[in-house]
Amino acid sequence: MDQAQSKPVFSLPDWRALRNDFPVLTNSQPALHYLDSAASSQKPQAVIDAISHCYSHNYGPVHRGLYALAEVASEAYEAARQTIANFVNAENTNEIVFTRSATEAINLVAHGWAGQHLKPGEDIWVSQMEHHANFLPWQRVCQTLGTRLRVIPLDEDGQLDFETAEGIFGANTGLIAITQVSNVLGTINPIEQIVRRANRQSIPVLVDAAQAVGHMAVDVQALNCDFLVASAHKMCGPGGIGFLYGKQERLAETDPLLLGGGMVDEVDIDQSSWAEIPARFEAGSPNLSGAVGFAAAINYLQDIGMGAIEQRVQQLTSLAYQTLSEIDGLALYGSPESTSHSGILSFNVDDIHPHDVAHIAAEHGVAIRAGHHCCQPLMQRLGVSSTARASFSFYNNEQDIAALAKAILDAKQILGNR
Ligand code: PMP
Repeated sequence: MDQAQSKPVFSLPDWRALRNDFPVLTNSQPALHYLDSAASSQKPQAVIDAISHCYSHNYGPVHRGLYALAEVASEAYEAARQTIANFVNAENTNEIVFTRSATEAINLVAHGWAGQHLKPGEDIWVSQMEHHANFLPWQRVCQTLGTRLRVIPLDEDGQLDFETAEGIFGANTGLIAITQVSNVLGTINPIEQIVRRANRQSIPVLVDAAQAVGHMAVDVQALNCDFLVASAHKMCGPGGIGFLYGKQERLAETDPLLLGGGMVDEVDIDQSSWAEIPARFEAGSPNLSGAVGFAAAINYLQDIGMGAIEQRVQQLTSLAYQTLSEIDGLALYGSPESTSHSGILSFNVDDIHPHDVAHIAAEHGVAIRAGHHCCQPLMQRLGVSSTARASFSFYNNEQDIAALAKAILDAKQILGNR
């Protein structure tokens, strides 16, 4: 075969070497098979070092001091915002608002935008696969505002069923808030098509990209969504920091969720005015080390390459899917064989409680999650109260999958239908 033809579009990273970037994976004795990255990912040394360097050399109050250290701190914080803006291709850096998490970012939009702009009787559409973080804030808006919460049902394969979501792109829809990737089924939703159809009717769309940003290339301008949220801790970054992307015109019409220091223009006894966006949404002392660690995580991921990361996770997930499919009595949820599926597999084995599966897995050094995964409406659709969930990152390897399969077989032997 022609040499040029057989070349991959990007040079393949040395995955084994990259795994060694994660101290917790190399330090653990006995070996740790970490298959819970959808809950929170592990951190590479580069991120740990960036945070440590920040505290050792550059730490100071952000936007609050005139001395050198405070200026360095403020510059590092704004540079981190720029890194995120570039990563998701925001048109303008001030479209990135630092929040504590994806959860806080959704609550900010629910309170500050939906709560101000939607009218009683209008519909807010979510899907049946939403994380509670993208469900409860809308439920509350509906309870207080008199808007209606509508739910896009799922078909038998765990895909969004638009046929039965009557009126979703109609004149009565005030907002669509939808996840890009399901944290239970791993389904990658056709978010581009949803936004395109919504745009035609001028319906604003919020994308919950907590399981997408850092796992695949996300381009907010190409997507043309109004809002998009994510958390650093699910993409090799630190806990306690996330972001809200909002189009400038949407953020301009959004009220702040938190009031306090740093978000004001002028404060009088009777009334006050807010600072420009994005400072308006960042009340209180900013999380400098979080922002610096977040930027370091993005740089680390970009050095590997988002295309390579996505391909690696797909390969691992499809190997895991094949391996688990061979286990008698194991039911996998959703359609993990589909190409629009990311690194998450949810399953049950025989009639063993998923917590028992997770306990036995833990004894094998395999970390998986069991429960409803903050998706109770989805559990109701699946007809179960909980599932076991294995989720994969590029730092996983074939041994992790073999250890998971062995753990499940042991669980079956100890507790299953024999
Ligand atoms: N949405 C989805 C799809 C998630 O998986 C999660 C986290 N499990 C969240 C939102 C909330 O993220 P965080 O807890 O970081 O706010």
